[in-house]
Amino acid sequence: MHRILELTSKNLNAAIRELPGILSQGQHNGCNFFVASLDPETFACVVDASISENAPRSAIRALEAIRSPVDYLGMQIPLNAQLGVAVSPIHGTDAISLIRRASIAESSDRAHERGIAYYKPSRDSYSAGKLTMVSELQQALANDELALYLQPKLDLRTGRITGLEALIRWPGREQPVQADEIIMLAEQTGLIKPLTRWVLEQSLQLRNRLLENGHHLDLSVNISPNNLREPDFPLFVKRLMSAHPRHEGAIIFEVTETSMMQDPVNALKTLNSLANAGIPVSIDDFGSGYSSLSYIKQLPASEIKIDRSLITDLATEEEDRVIVQTTIDMCHSLGYQVVAEGVEDEATANLLKGMGCDMIQGYLLSRPLPLEHMLSWLAERREIATPQHAPG
Ligand code: C2E
Ligand code: CA
Ligand code: CA
Repeated sequence: MHRILELTSKNLNAAIRELPGILSQGQHNGCNFFVASLDPETFACVVDASISENAPRSAIRALEAIRSPVDYLGMQIPLNAQLGVAVSPIHGTDAISLIRRASIAESSDRAHERGIAYYKPSRDSYSAGKLTMVSELQQALANDELALYLQPKLDLRTGRITGLEALIRWPGREQPVQADEIIMLAEQTGLIKPLTRWVLEQSLQLRNRLLENGHHLDLSVNISPNNLREPDFPLFVKRLMSAHPRHEGAIIFEVTETSMMQDPVNALKTLNSLANAGIPVSIDDFGSGYSSLSYIKQLPASEIKIDRSLITDLATEEEDRVIVQTTIDMCHSLGYQVVAEGVEDEATANLLKGMGCDMIQGYLLSRPLPLEHMLSWLAERREIATPQHAPG
């Protein structure tokens, strides 16, 4: 073990010295050292973020190198390193608070799932900020102060909008809280159960309004893996859907594959029972983490959403194009529709069309908008698509 950790620290030092903006911790025998050991299995480094942010590709490459296995007596020992990041001055101005907060981020579920996480008060079970936020979230949920914003999904072949994704927002709050932070907080405190039920009921109301305005669109909602573990979740969904038959088959459940891996057998069971009840299932964030083709094949899904991280640099990165093309072909051969997330420019949309991708979503079309704004956006688009004939 000792020897493996020694090799690991050497590997880490070699990988991390390539990180743009890395600062030296000192010298020994004329060599620069970039990592410090906090405890035998935890290392720390200091980075000038303004430099690394301007070289995201090289930064990602260096961080990926950290994950390469260590060669020990000819065996490849996998490391599964988890990274936690704290940023000065927002997360602290002294070494002790920065190290403490980086290590809170490192031990978070997100770092566990994704390999890297930034410090957020909601990840810190000791901070007063988190406790206040939990009770505020509970209040907001009870007082109907949360909102669902809508983002359109475009069919590349027909040029038509086929559906919308509902994304949670907390509008009235002085200090804005991001959707993923709201969800994480809700998951940690059990609030995710009432929250998702609110989201589902709310999305049926939103779809009523869409239908009233002549928009026969699907509505996608995000479901947390915690919901799949609630014993009465499928029953709740079935009751809700049979009370509102006009939405049958039009409310799509988005679940991430990585999150299901925490409890693959039960997640699969629940998804199957939802699919049998006529709920279409979509696999979210595909390609963002560990993927198991043999598991995916068993999922009763009709759609796969390719994660934004693979789409962002599509126009400039040959390697990403190869991965995305392979993913599209593989998903098609398994019978899934493919959606690309995070499409921000025309060039990327054209590339995806050429690659045979079915649908896109992203800022190129629209940011997520409140219902009223989305209704105007849809109406405007419809007018452009079917121009009125000029008189005479
Ligand atoms: P997601 O399901 O992957 O949703 C897509 C995220 O990407 C949204 O962030 C959306 O605003 C953002 N996005 C869309 N197009 C673009 C683009 O072109 N460029 C960039 N940079 N970003 C784009 P948002 O709304 O902050 O949501 C973050 C995550 O929070 C969601 O990721 C989802 O995992 C979770 N979430 C949001 N609403 C809910 C909810 O009601 N329930 C649950 N369980 N999770 C939710
Ligand atoms: Ca989603
Ligand atoms: Ca996604």
